[in-house]
Amino acid sequence: MTLMKIQRFLAIWLATTAAITCVASGAEPADPWQIIKVGTHDYLSVDNIAKFYGLPSGVAPSGRKIRLENEKGLLEFNLDSREININGARNWLCFPVIENGGKYLVSRMDLAKTIEPQMRPHMITSVRKLTTVVLDPGHGGYDKGATSRYGNEKDYALDVARKLRPLLRAKGLKVVLTREGDYFVPLEVRAKIANTAKDAIFISIHFNATDRDASASGFEIYCLTPLGAPSTADDSLALSFMNVNPGTGVDTHSVGVAACIYHSILGHTDEPDRGIKRARFAVLRLTQIPSVLIEGGFMTERGESKMIAKNEWRTDFARAISIGIESYRNLAEKKQKPLTVADYRRQKNGVQLEFSPPPTELTLLHPTIESLSLVPRPAEVLPSLSLQSPTPLPTPLEIHP
Ligand SMILES: [Zn+2]
Repeated sequence: MTLMKIQRFLAIWLATTAAITCVASGAEPADPWQIIKVGTHDYLSVDNIAKFYGLPSGVAPSGRKIRLENEKGLLEFNLDSREININGARNWLCFPVIENGGKYLVSRMDLAKTIEPQMRPHMITSVRKLTTVVLDPGHGGYDKGATSRYGNEKDYALDVARKLRPLLRAKGLKVVLTREGDYFVPLEVRAKIANTAKDAIFISIHFNATDRDASASGFEIYCLTPLGAPSTADDSLALSFMNVNPGTGVDTHSVGVAACIYHSILGHTDEPDRGIKRARFAVLRLTQIPSVLIEGGFMTERGESKMIAKNEWRTDFARAISIGIESYRNLAEKKQKPLTVADYRRQKNGVQLEFSPPPTELTLLHPTIESLSLVPRPAEVLPSLSLQSPTPLPTPLEIHP
């Protein structure tokens, strides 16, 4: 065939395939989203979200909660709160769920930036490959980080990174450490190292501390706060967060990485979970690749500081993180649905897991959520919305990078 013939053949073939696909999927449904404006802020009703994800709809609140659960997944919303459960993982939304006209409403930004990447991780666009993991052990040198009677955060973070390296290499991944020893590396340099890596993700490893609550315990994972939104530790709509950087364009990828690691830690350790949170830490702000910061537990809590000091606990912790990273790679490269905490616990109990193909039927019905990812301009986020919620918000615990 000549080049022109090939081109003509391709054009006809493409047109025919497109026509068949159209018939097969039926008429394009009307916009699946009914946006509700409250002030200048865009919301979606919980029922609208339920229908979109194929979860039970028309569910009435019980107390101040709405729990939607079936084989497609789990979402549990709390009225006037930013806390939400997504497929068994605790998350913190940027804005509280509100009630309006008898409906529970969820902010459009939270749907696009936090719920969607976890409910339909296979729809996170442009993830294709994961070849390199940049591990960033926090602090170092004169900067000890948090301290306990047993040791320093900087040493534990480096040890976890060193334990992770061979585990990830065994999975065929390239590993880069932002520091190899006990010396301080400026935050911008850590980000620069991340930004030179190709097909990579960035994992910053820390341990927590607080002087406000000696009983505070558990792990948490941070992703960069979306543009125009408050961080998890912000409890009022201060102007400070309006003065923001443009973000990295890989927000949803970072949430994907965070969720994969979070479910694995939750499924493989007995540590309490504090949630997937948002912050504008320098290492998250300055990295252009999907980035998360893990706080592995509290150096200031008696039992947890002892646990962190144990070599075998840190080995288990590193293993849990490596399994989460593998789950993300399977998502990126094979579009394999990430395992949830429930899957890992079943696996632990000897139940063989079967991988189901990604739920493409949803994709056909609702080809895109793109319209939702249009984040409102910062100025538009200043409605009469109060973030002061009756349920206690997570306290800003660590004064961090
Ligand atoms: Zn730290």
